[in-house]
Amino acid sequence: MTGAAIEFRSVCKAYGDFQAVRDLDLAIPKREFLVLLGPSGCGKSTILKLLAGIEDPTSGEIFVNGSLVNYLLPRDRNVAMVFQNYALYPHMSVARNIAYPLKSRKGEARNRAMVHEKVLQAANLVEISDQLEKRPEALSGGQRQRVALARALVRDPEVFAMDEPLSNLDAQLRDAMRQHLTALHRRVGKVTIYVTHDQHEAMTMADRIVVLKDGVVQQVGTPREVFNAPTNTFVAGFLGNPKMNIGPGISLGRDSVRIGEFDLKTNCGTGPKGAPLLVGLRPTDARHEGGSNCIQGTVTALEYTGADTVVTLSTSASVDLRFRHTNASSCTEGKTAAFFYAAEHVHVFDQEGRRM
Ligand code: ATP
Repeated sequence: MTGAAIEFRSVCKAYGDFQAVRDLDLAIPKREFLVLLGPSGCGKSTILKLLAGIEDPTSGEIFVNGSLVNYLLPRDRNVAMVFQNYALYPHMSVARNIAYPLKSRKGEARNRAMVHEKVLQAANLVEISDQLEKRPEALSGGQRQRVALARALVRDPEVFAMDEPLSNLDAQLRDAMRQHLTALHRRVGKVTIYVTHDQHEAMTMADRIVVLKDGVVQQVGTPREVFNAPTNTFVAGFLGNPKMNIGPGISLGRDSVRIGEFDLKTNCGTGPKGAPLLVGLRPTDARHEGGSNCIQGTVTALEYTGADTVVTLSTSASVDLRFRHTNASSCTEGKTAAFFYAAEHVHVFDQEGRRM
């Protein structure tokens, strides 16, 4: 036993011939905010459903606080789910919606004062206590999501399982709720598994991120680890905006690679001299001056984003390369421009896309 709050051991889930989750091994410590990140259909929600008992694994074991939960009913697992669509009862007041999970617990339903106290505590935590008598239809999207959170909190669960809880909110509200959720997690201190396909959400909220593709874990790590040392080209491309430039190159042996006509020093492995490989350069790691490790080309596009400009260069590399420039007034379409990379920012992958 690892002492983890949650542990998946060799968990698989198949729907007929289709493998939605493959060989999931994951230990999640107490208090962690873990984000499951990946494109649509990669198995994120299925993992939450397996934990909550809404789906049964095809094989493997799931433990909560050291106890096997495979054979427990959802209501006995003490996992509170929060969904994208809030799932509130429209005919009930906010207070009754929040109290609902307590009603199904014997004893607590009879103790009205205790239920009221717990509802108030949960409502205070999500700052919705002034809306308790309203019906959900009279609330904004952000307020409804807070009610859904309060309904999860009132159960005092072992685990919060959140499935894209902020997707229905507009960008500004999502931003505010993201901060609220992170602060709430710190106060409540329960392990939280949070599903999203939004890399920004994952990077800003997670203690650790699990990147998934086709039901298979690609990498588990802190936001810094997955961003700075992506284990393969899928992870490299999924995190970061604009996306990492990835183009074919060759090894120069020891600590250098070539992309187009440019020789770049790297901290990654390079394999034998002359071996074909893939070189990755994040647009956001580009510097405007430096000595060596230079990429030069003709500016073909400038995209002004407000905080900076994304410059596209046509170079001797076989793909167009994009770079972020914080002051692109010196860049003109049709003219040459140069960008520089520290060796630690030159990523190298083998031809199968695995980090070297
Ligand atoms: P999204 O971000 O779109 O919600 P996801 O990563 O959460 O995607 P899942 O909902 O876990 O993906 O689904 C994983 C795969 O399993 C998908 O290809 C989906 O079509 C399939 N799947 C999910 N539930 C079922 C089901 N009940 N029957 C058959 N296939 C299913």
